[in-house]
Amino acid sequence: MPASDKSLLASIHDVSPRFSDQIDRLADRLARHLGEPRFAMLVVPDHWGEAPIAGNRAFHARLRDWHATGVELFVHGWFHRDDSRHAGAATGFKARHMTAGEGEFLGLDGEEALDRMRRGRALIEDIVGAEVAGFIAPAWLYGPGALAALSTAGFAIAEDHLRVWSPLDGRVLARGPVVTWASRSQGRIASSIAFAALARHALAPMRTVRVAVHPGDTGVPRLLDSIDATFGRLLHGRKPGRYRDLLTA
Ligand SMILES: [Zn+2]
Repeated sequence: MPASDKSLLASIHDVSPRFSDQIDRLADRLARHLGEPRFAMLVVPDHWGEAPIAGNRAFHARLRDWHATGVELFVHGWFHRDDSRHAGAATGFKARHMTAGEGEFLGLDGEEALDRMRRGRALIEDIVGAEVAGFIAPAWLYGPGALAALSTAGFAIAEDHLRVWSPLDGRVLARGPVVTWASRSQGRIASSIAFAALARHALAPMRTVRVAVHPGDTGVPRLLDSIDATFGRLLHGRKPGRYRDLLTA
């Protein structure tokens, strides 16, 4: 396929007033790699119940500015933190060990999941005066309630670790693991750097690749080096893309 058909979808996770400085640094860094602010931002309406966007006028202005420059905005949970009690031992294990308790939508029932999705969407759409691009669950983890809610919430796009799909019709829009980094322990840092080094070569032939960064990455120079190397490699013969373009591809 022609190189111009290949795209890179970049995203900044956990966009919240709590991480304003880190988000700015990531946005600058990504814009340098991509030549323009062509990336998605995953917005958390009230991170851990301690950083509400609702009454924060300064942050509203920043969301509007980002949206005006072409940044795609996704609803990224409500609290981000997993505050539910998990019924199944296996699910509980997955929540604790895979996500450090950040899998908010893993244990929610359908009603609560739908309510948080709708409130998150209304909040962001009221602020920017336009539709959000879609919904992405914290830590890319969807329990049965979240999946049921997605089928009625009306979002055009969702993604998990391995694919992007449209909840409107179930169509899979892109496949392949997202390249991302973890900063919460030395072991996670080392393994995410190793995975990125492998993935930026292994994924090079794919039509669509995804790269996701988090606020915590900015505090670890080794991670920033790996992020830079990954964008450098994956952008060979590939253009920065938009999630919404997958709907018409
Ligand atoms: Zn997140």
